[in-house]
Amino acid sequence: MAQRTRTEQADRIRHLLETEGDAVHASASGFDTSREAAYDATDDLEVLRTEARSIKEDAIDRLPELIETVREAVEANGGTVYVADDAADANAYVADVVDAQTDANGVTGNGDTPSVVKSKSMTTEEIDLNEGLEAEGIEVTETDLGEWVLQVADDTPSHIVGPAMHLSREEIADLFNDRFDPDEPFETAEELTRFARDHLGEHIREADVGITGANFVVADSGTITLVTNEGNARKCAVTPDTHVAITGVEKLIPTLSDLEPFVDLIAKSATGQPISQYVTMLSPPTDSPTLGFDRPDEPITGDNESAGGMGNPDRDFHLVLLDNGRTEMREDDQLRETLYCIRCGACSNSCANFQSVGGHGFGGETYSGGIATGWEAGVHGQESAAEFNDLCTGCTRCVDACPVKIDIPWINTVVRDRVNRSSDPETYDFLVDGLTPDLEEGGLDPGKRFFGNIGTVAKAASATAPVSNWLADAGPVRAALEHTLGIDRRRDLPAFQRESLVDWFEGRGGFATSKKRVARNDVPRTVERQSRETTAEPRVHRGGMEASSKRVERAASRADDGDDKGEIDREVVLYPDVYTNYVDIDRGKAAVRTLEALGVPVRVPDLPESGRAALSQGMIATADRQASRLYAALAEDLDAGRDVVMIEPSDLAAVHREYERLLPAASVERLRANSYEICEYVYGLLENGADPSALSTGDGAEPVAYHSHCQQRTLDLEAPTVAVLERCGYAPETSSAECCGMAGSFGYKREYYELSMDVGERLATEIEGAETVVASGTSCGDQLETLLEREVPHPVELLAPGGYRT
Ligand code: SF4
Repeated sequence: MAQRTRTEQADRIRHLLETEGDAVHASASGFDTSREAAYDATDDLEVLRTEARSIKEDAIDRLPELIETVREAVEANGGTVYVADDAADANAYVADVVDAQTDANGVTGNGDTPSVVKSKSMTTEEIDLNEGLEAEGIEVTETDLGEWVLQVADDTPSHIVGPAMHLSREEIADLFNDRFDPDEPFETAEELTRFARDHLGEHIREADVGITGANFVVADSGTITLVTNEGNARKCAVTPDTHVAITGVEKLIPTLSDLEPFVDLIAKSATGQPISQYVTMLSPPTDSPTLGFDRPDEPITGDNESAGGMGNPDRDFHLVLLDNGRTEMREDDQLRETLYCIRCGACSNSCANFQSVGGHGFGGETYSGGIATGWEAGVHGQESAAEFNDLCTGCTRCVDACPVKIDIPWINTVVRDRVNRSSDPETYDFLVDGLTPDLEEGGLDPGKRFFGNIGTVAKAASATAPVSNWLADAGPVRAALEHTLGIDRRRDLPAFQRESLVDWFEGRGGFATSKKRVARNDVPRTVERQSRETTAEPRVHRGGMEASSKRVERAASRADDGDDKGEIDREVVLYPDVYTNYVDIDRGKAAVRTLEALGVPVRVPDLPESGRAALSQGMIATADRQASRLYAALAEDLDAGRDVVMIEPSDLAAVHREYERLLPAASVERLRANSYEICEYVYGLLENGADPSALSTGDGAEPVAYHSHCQQRTLDLEAPTVAVLERCGYAPETSSAECCGMAGSFGYKREYYELSMDVGERLATEIEGAETVVASGTSCGDQLETLLEREVPHPVELLAPGGYRT
């Protein structure tokens, strides 16, 4: 499959935004809000998630053994287990099972061609089972309402849980009215579902074979667990004489007790329900009776003769376990985690880009959403994943949503890296080869290479500013940038500063001056600790404060290392991330002044890039080297007991999350233990007795709209900023929209510009009425400044002595 060009991708996304965006957003964001509420209401959520994760790790470890265990159990129950190597193998097996219902003329006992009813199953979508059976003359009817709508519409699923999420009720009513020509046109959801229920009920009653998936398969008992809200799956399983359950081998779990956390988590994570309407557990004994619809008043028993033939001694059960690449995924250290997925769709629902375009944009041949990259790469191949993988911005909001704690962004990064390395040499490679300090091979998309080397670009642009800024903004240059690097010409480019933050800091005398300023500010190095009882408690938001407080305690305890209680005797190394160093040096200056005002002298050394930018583009080798260099550059400061403070949340997230994939564990732990987000650190100082009046304070009720940052939220670091703003006399209101849509380089890319703006507009609409708007992330600030047409500073700029008013 040839990859779409930028123009084709842009057109496709624009089309989806216009045609499916509203319906997908309404459903996906609704599910996400419900999930958050359900998670918040679950006391032992983290215990459950950890337990579920560990059961999956163990099950995938023991997969070959579990396959043999379930084979024995199902056969002991009278059924058959078939392990299908691939789609063709699975389809042929199922076709044979259906064919077995017919005579030599290919018709069933009723003289009809065999018919199959089926419940929703992504695994059967993966193998194109319907097409395979229909090619053999077998009629297949979907019985899940959403799947049936798609079958009638000849459409494909846009979500792994809500397959028809992209269609509105009105569109479905039009479809049904057109297709079924009812006496009275359908209008309401009730009319539509009642019609579907009756229509599908008839099909189920008459079907020769019922096909279901399986959410979980208990190996030692052969128990199939079906979790649905419509109850159609269990009807498909028990009504026809023959039941075929098709599922990926990864659905095996060892024992019945292992099922518990999954049953608890799956409905919560998928739709926010405490539990699904139907949780059906079947250990199909093949000698149990089938339903006799023509004798509804007679009891169902297993005694065929006395039941007048209601039971069927030939009742058949087949469990088809699909491999289709899963064994290779299991052996792949990076893709293996994908097999822990329980297909709840929470990662899709929590993703801002998914909420805008749905699975038809953010999805491959079968699977959709963030985890689809792992599934598609594993079962259909990297090319399918490459079609949509760039829609994952690495925001990490799905990480907290996933009930089995899969590092979905990392899977996306790894596959992006592999796609990069498998690409053919690019036309414009000659422009960058030898000029970029990366470790990438030819063939990497030049736009990705540009953004992945943004530190080098920024350094050169700063050294030649303002000429570089004028040049970059000139019409012909913008056209060339769009053509070669895919930078959308509608997007404002950053204005690079001639004097970097590091230069400014050195120019004012470096650390020696910072120390003098702390002394001159007359900030007591020993301050009286304020009683927590006399200060406002920080407002808890999204439950983050609890986790944050642990980090803050750490910050506070470090600040409290002095002999006297309340003494602040720390030194900070302020990390000059690329944007703060070369573009928005004001926020860097504000951070320096804030720390100094609170009694902490600062160093701003010239440090290597964190690797965050390279990771965003899937340039793992480059990021790996940058991480090592940064750790080496900070080693002396860490040895000296200095605290590393970062302004840009994405750089801190790289250190705290991704570095565990890049550096030795001891190095990561050292960095994690000694690095802080700027407002988290300020909160620690205030908690330890630093005086907020040294900062620019509000009147106690000054409203501020605060947009945190995706990765900052994942690190549970929104709450400290809120708390600091409150302690300093502001009344922060946090945005409920999760994402600004910019996501570093994402919003610059031509193919994603409209999507970026669509996501950003939701946030802007929410906060446009606020007099003061602050944002922690670089790209959040840029996006909001564009959409709101005013300045959006970092919170530390609001707090710095001297103040800042928008
Ligand atoms: S990756 Fe996690 S959140 Fe996404 S569908 Fe799978 S289990 Fe659900």
